[in-house]
Amino acid sequence: MAKERLDKVLGHLGVGTRKEIHRLARAGLVTIDGNIITDAAFKFDPAMSRIEVAGELLEYQAYFYLMLHKPAGYITSTKDRDGIPITALLPEEWQRSDWMPVGRLDKDTEGLLLLTTDGELLHRLTHPRWKVAKRYYVELAAPATPEDVAVFASGTLELEGEPLQPAELHIGPDPRKVELVIHEGKFHQVKRMFAARGNQVTYLKRVAYGPLSLPSDLPTGKSRKLLPEEIGALY
Ligand code: URA
Repeated sequence: MAKERLDKVLGHLGVGTRKEIHRLARAGLVTIDGNIITDAAFKFDPAMSRIEVAGELLEYQAYFYLMLHKPAGYITSTKDRDGIPITALLPEEWQRSDWMPVGRLDKDTEGLLLLTTDGELLHRLTHPRWKVAKRYYVELAAPATPEDVAVFASGTLELEGEPLQPAELHIGPDPRKVELVIHEGKFHQVKRMFAARGNQVTYLKRVAYGPLSLPSDLPTGKSRKLLPEEIGALY
């Protein structure tokens, strides 16, 4: 990996503002491979170095990955524009300006939302070519029917003239409570698919994205870092 400036690396790792990092370095509190570095412009390879700040070892990561159990009422945005952004739910230590949500959930939709700073992974997961499966738990105003299953599976359904990929609808013992797996992510897709069948979604929750399911022990509104094996499974 290329060499980077000390202040850039420590900023990326969330140590503090540029000013704070310069102050820490000047105070002799930053060591790289055991050597005190007072010059914040010092260049080194962060992936190959032992970085300590005030005696604490920092684990270098090029990119960051989180899963969030999104509640209703938050917008899938990192900017405070037309509502409260999902990033307002993240703890202080994970606040950063470069989070990117992996796909969008409507303001009233709950469930699994991945966040990353890794642009390549974001592209892979959201590009239609990869057909990543998204599983939704859906509550409906009227019972789903075997015809809905057949139409969704056929790949003949169109939304405003745009054909949809085949989707799998699973109807449980209560036909108003179903699961739908789609392989693309068009605007309001699940709601529009049921609307096209003359039905209405009354509650929507994403329960899985690709190989990752929403963990039952992740409460609504909470987030956690992805485990290394979860990141591996997404690639
Ligand atoms: N489909 C929808 O209609 N809304 C969402 O939030 C996600 C999928």
